[in-house]
Amino acid sequence: MPARSQLERLQKLLKEILAPKLPGVEVEVTPPARWKRPVAVVRWGGFAGLLAEQRFRVVVSNIPSEMFERDFHGLIWFELTPGEEIDDYLRMPRSDDVAKKAESLMAAAMQSGLAAKLKESLGDDAGKSCGGSFEAARRALAGAGWSKTRIEEFCLAALGRGAYCDCEVIALLQPESGI
Ligand SMILES: [Zn+2]
Repeated sequence: MPARSQLERLQKLLKEILAPKLPGVEVEVTPPARWKRPVAVVRWGGFAGLLAEQRFRVVVSNIPSEMFERDFHGLIWFELTPGEEIDDYLRMPRSDDVAKKAESLMAAAMQSGLAAKLKESLGDDAGKSCGGSFEAARRALAGAGWSKTRIEEFCLAALGRGAYCDCEVIALLQPESGI
């Protein structure tokens, strides 16, 4: 088990790395209690509206990969909004929950012309104008008459296929688009 001083060092390092990128972020690294491994809790208002896997992506993409491997490997991560608890996070849906439906959800999204609609709403430089969420995809699918539940399932299925935001959904549905 890592010494408490080691965890304090990790907490300080994590805060230093994330604070400039996630304004107002709070970070806590605590010794094993409920789980066998130390826990890292990252609290940030910007996680609101993002699914659990999207939130983790935000954290990981803001930590240099060598540093993540060297210092933060082996922690259990929770990315919470200021009012949330770990149990709220544990109850959030995951891409695995829709694995069996993923294929048909993708096919239905393609049929509804989602990629073209996203390109239209994100413009020429989709990578740049993308907000890092599924906001445009949710809006387009809602406009196509999809239910809230089905839209959520589509977003989870996209995560399961490595697309974490609107511009990555375009790349997923139209690999030749070069985004
Ligand atoms: Zn994007």
